[in-house]
Amino acid sequence: MFKQLVFLTLFLAHAGCAAEPKAPAPAKATDIINLQPRFDAPPRLATTRDELAKTKAAPDFPAMRDATIAQGETLLKNPVAIPRGYANWLFYYACPDDGATLVMIDLDHHQCPADKKIYTDERTVAAYRFNQHVACENAAAALGWAYAYSGDDKFAVEAKRILLALARDYPNYPARQDRWGNTGQAARLGGRRYVQSLDEAVGIIRLAKGYDLTRTAKTWSDADKSQVEKNLFGLTAATLLEFNQDINNHQTWYNAGLMAIASVTADADLARKVLTMQGGFYDQLKRSIGRDGLWYEGTMSYHSYALQAMIELVDAARRIGLPLQNEPKFKAMILAPLHAAYPDGSFPAINDSDPGNVGQFGGAFEWGWNVTRDPLFAQAMAGGDDKKLAALLGQNAKTVAPLLHSEILPDAGLAILRQGSGANAVSAFLDFGQHGGGHGHYDKLNLMLFANGREWLLDPGRLTYSHKEYKTWVKHSAAHNTVTLGGRSQFPTTGKLLYFQNEKGWSACAATSDGAYFDANLTRHLLLAPQMLVDVFDVESPEETQIDWFAHAIAPLAPVEERGAGETLASGTEFGYQHLTDSRAWQIKGDSRWDFGEKDAPRLRLWLAGDATEQVFSATGIGYHTGQKAPALIRRRMGKTARFVTVYDLSGKADYVRRVEVNKGEAMKIATSEGIWNVSFSAQGAKGVLEKTR
Ligand SMILES: [Zn+2]
Repeated sequence: MFKQLVFLTLFLAHAGCAAEPKAPAPAKATDIINLQPRFDAPPRLATTRDELAKTKAAPDFPAMRDATIAQGETLLKNPVAIPRGYANWLFYYACPDDGATLVMIDLDHHQCPADKKIYTDERTVAAYRFNQHVACENAAAALGWAYAYSGDDKFAVEAKRILLALARDYPNYPARQDRWGNTGQAARLGGRRYVQSLDEAVGIIRLAKGYDLTRTAKTWSDADKSQVEKNLFGLTAATLLEFNQDINNHQTWYNAGLMAIASVTADADLARKVLTMQGGFYDQLKRSIGRDGLWYEGTMSYHSYALQAMIELVDAARRIGLPLQNEPKFKAMILAPLHAAYPDGSFPAINDSDPGNVGQFGGAFEWGWNVTRDPLFAQAMAGGDDKKLAALLGQNAKTVAPLLHSEILPDAGLAILRQGSGANAVSAFLDFGQHGGGHGHYDKLNLMLFANGREWLLDPGRLTYSHKEYKTWVKHSAAHNTVTLGGRSQFPTTGKLLYFQNEKGWSACAATSDGAYFDANLTRHLLLAPQMLVDVFDVESPEETQIDWFAHAIAPLAPVEERGAGETLASGTEFGYQHLTDSRAWQIKGDSRWDFGEKDAPRLRLWLAGDATEQVFSATGIGYHTGQKAPALIRRRMGKTARFVTVYDLSGKADYVRRVEVNKGEAMKIATSEGIWNVSFSAQGAKGVLEKTR
């Protein structure tokens, strides 16, 4: 807390802000001095002398050393070629006719393996050099480790050869250009060694590590060192500082590259600049990362990409005495994926996400544990495994189960209800918040549901951008577990959370939206208990219209009561409805029950309650890829208002809920195998009381 204040002051001072900071004056000078980076004798970027000594003392060191030396020997036997110039964009190294990656014949001739055509143009030749530059970076780092583990000068000699060659060439690369051919001021994302500063940032970290690990070797003269520091690291820093990308993840990587450069060149001003400038570390913590710790672009792949860069930066900074690893918002960023996950660690694919799993952040949890010793990281690493946890925290350590309770992710705009633990954990996600910009879907008040060790109600994510279904299906409201009016998709809009409650034995939330359709109000209330979810969706429209309610799951759908074959009838022809095939419809007055689930596997039973007449459709939509079928249940009513009451039996055996009674103006009565639940909702909150029978 205190440290944040200090940094705020620093930020204002460096930004040259006109307004004077109002923070109290005393003791600041000392704190700013405390933020001075400390440049110990190298290595201090890839590792430190202390860390290296610990690594060498570890029991697995001999095996690691031998493998690293073997890799170094290979690089001595087959030294990497120094590229003859800058690198163009990697994706230009492909045949324009069929997209096949080209094959080098010699540096000036590159052949398409499919149609055998030979390319000699400058763009292709320069694109080939992308691979050469990357090979140089990887070699410099690998040789650095081989030297650090063996102390054998020959590895440092080869690393120096690469670094000196790049330092010699850098001033001769074109001034600045991007992959579209813009130059100078027009090439905002451009660079010099590469046509993207992003690639220079990522690459310079590896080169800086190679330098950091070898420069204490005899082979490095002072003149060599100053040449590399000035012409490779200094000029790369100038390239990375030329166009600030603000909160964008490109800037996150620029920051990491700049901090690596500041470390190896002992540039305290540069280190402070990276922390305090616009788009710098502290500014990004403040503006690129939400209160929930999630990266602002809203998908786990962006979160992961930005987090890798943040960890590179923090690693570099902590080794020069800047303890950024303790910043609460940064820690929250590492742990945020846990909060956005189902009980089994998988992520619902909200907006343009792909299916993923917290496992992809395992390396980040481990890093967090190693450098901060915060037990939460150990819990995250152990993932509920007592043995793993004991190995990390000692024999008396207890798994916190569940690690997470019901919560709101305010900037992601998700209310997450959680009950139960282990194999019995259930979870419901209600998406109420911001639309999500260009990556958003028209999915306000979408519900995602996990129970019985699997996801039931899904969001299909983005499929891929190249499928036509990206625009014709996944973006549309009809692909989500929400409501449409008039058979059209919702408008992009931000909904509002009405309440959130975490009570003993149940949790509840409600959200509302008045911007999804003109002058219409949508409100959804949820109450989650360990074996049941109660869902009340209210719709008020200014005019008589068709009101459709959707539930999608990757599991066969069938009515519980015998209802005959139904009427062959399409539910619609546009706004995503065209992808709902094999549609059948039934006219139903009053209650009905429907099961999602394979025979002899867990089932999700839906109790559709109330005395209204509705048309119920069963159809087949699309799952996580175009070949995957996701059956859909649609409830259709005509009118100005509708209340859709649904009770989901989460027991997996469809034997928890016995009867559902909805009485106007009174609490719903849900008879279950445990007793009678009395459930009611209002704009102020939910009430849930279980009268146990036995
Ligand atoms: Zn979606």
